[in-house]
Amino acid sequence: MQLRFHCVGRPRADLIILVNYDKEIRESERKCAMSLEGKIAIVTGSTSGIGLGIVRGLAESGADVILNSFTDTAQDHALAEGIAKEFNISARYVSADMCDVQACRDLIAEVGRCDILVNNAGVQHVAPIDQFPADKWDDILAINLTSAFHTTATALPMMRAAGWGRVVNIASAHGLTASPFKSAYVAAKHGVVGLTKTVALETAEEPITANAICPGYVLTPLLEAQLPATMEKYNMDRETVIKKIILDRQPSRSFATVEQLAGTCCFLCSNAADQITGTTISMDGGWTAM
Ligand code: NAD
Repeated sequence: MQLRFHCVGRPRADLIILVNYDKEIRESERKCAMSLEGKIAIVTGSTSGIGLGIVRGLAESGADVILNSFTDTAQDHALAEGIAKEFNISARYVSADMCDVQACRDLIAEVGRCDILVNNAGVQHVAPIDQFPADKWDDILAINLTSAFHTTATALPMMRAAGWGRVVNIASAHGLTASPFKSAYVAAKHGVVGLTKTVALETAEEPITANAICPGYVLTPLLEAQLPATMEKYNMDRETVIKKIILDRQPSRSFATVEQLAGTCCFLCSNAADQITGTTISMDGGWTAM
């Protein structure tokens, strides 16, 4: 409105320039909006928890989505069909075990196009280092870190061919800080943050970004699985363990939600985030500020 006010009494050519300028601003605003229509997003480990929340957020923003886990049940396929119907987009479930190097690469190759890659699959095991089972160490490193290397390496040429791409890695507050008894998880998540920065530098001059989201605690099946042992260890009931032990690290004393994580992921995928690359976004209620 202000622009039009300044136009009063000016020659018509100026008006045309200003109207065009106004249109450009609107176009730029539209481009910064969250529509991901026409994009194909692959989210690893997305049949539950954060991955499923992110799939739903991306689908709501108009992206076509690929769900993944290693289970390949009728329920997995039905989940994808339900999401396709709910959001009126295309959704497919593709089974691939993120422990398996070739399966990581095949997941991306089979889909054949990947505009948005969300490396989310992750597992956890808690034990002191001297008692930490070597096979658990290998699995955690493979699923949480190595898989992201292989999927990214396969997806980047596709993003380059399409002239646009987004890599969003789901790291953790444990990608920035440590906790006792989580050696493999902390090592893997710090690795994910390092991988993210490297991918960002290698793609810095291209319309591709790579970032990591670092959540604090989110109440998903992964965290639920840790509750019984913690309840036993501290001889506390579920609610007390959540309040006194788990959320003790999180100054907000609240869990981050999968919907909030999906919102941040969609923002990183929007054009508003074109210049955000190689960084971490903490969603930890202040944990890593301490
Ligand atoms: P979750 O257990 O709810 O979901 C994990 C998903 O990964 C599931 O769909 C599972 O089927 C899949 N998965 C597991 N192993 C796999 C494999 N070998 N191959 C393919 N898929 C596999 O866990 P979540 O809490 O939603 O965690 C998702 C990501 O978020 C993980 O990387 C985790 O480290 C990270 N994270 C979680 C929290 C939290 O508090 N829940 C906090 C910080 C970071």
